[in-house]
This record gives sequence, structure tokens and C-alpha cells, in this order.
Amino acid sequence: MPTLFTKIIQREIPAEIVYEDEHVVAFRDIDPKAPVHVLIVPRTEIPGLADLPDDGDHRHILNAAKTIAERLGLTGGYRLVFNQGPDAGQTVDHLHAHLLGGRQLGWPPG
Ligand code: AMP
Repeated sequence: MPTLFTKIIQREIPAEIVYEDEHVVAFRDIDPKAPVHVLIVPRTEIPGLADLPDDGDHRHILNAAKTIAERLGLTGGYRLVFNQGPDAGQTVDHLHAHLLGGRQLGWPPG
């Protein structure tokens, strides 16, 4: 059973895709928490960060984040968040990074 994000990657569910390469696809979050809120998702179905193999997709996710932030003009800074498991409020079991920016971001996060 493909994940929700795989269905977006395969264009079965619509989303505003802002970036893609052979490793990852990035699209705007449907419920944005900042003026820029993009999800960066590896094409490979990995349930979460805890399942990422040592030679996994992390470099591609980070490279994509840097590229997207530059393209979207986040010159003042941005934040990259991985929600892992129930304590972090993970709702979609397909590894993804939240790229947030476009406003002053509070710290510590909730
Ligand atoms: P997480 O809580 O870290 O698992 O993040 C899942 C994110 O997916 C949430 O921020 C949701 O708003 C977002 N989301 C859920 N469904 C969609 C969708 N169809 N298109 C874009 N983003 C979605």
C-alpha cells in the first residue's frame, strides 16, 4: 500500500511540487505553519528517521533543503525539522523533512 507521500510523488494526489530530483520530491505542506513550509520527501519509502540506514537519503534531503531555501529566497534563515514518532507528532510514516521559513521562528519549539 503506497504512502500518502508516494501517491503525491506519483501524481495520484495533487500537491504544489517546488523541487524534485532523482532522490527526493519537495512540495508545499497542505497546512502550512510558516509562510514557507515545504516537505522534502525521499522517493524511497522509509517510515521515519529511525529507519534511515547509515548510507540512506540524508545527504540528498539536506542538499535539497539548501537548494530550495535558496530558490525560495529564504535569505534570513530557515529551519529543518524531522518529526520522529508519536512524541514528536509524526502523522505520515514516510520520512520527510519540514523546511520552514519566511518569518521569525520561535525557540524552543513546542
Ligand atoms: P508529520 O506530522 O511530521 O508527519 O508531518 C506530516 C505533514 O504532512 C503535516 O504537516 C501535514 O500538514 C502534511 N500533509 C498531510 N497531507 C498532505 C497533503 N495531501 N499535501 C501536503 N501536505 C500534507
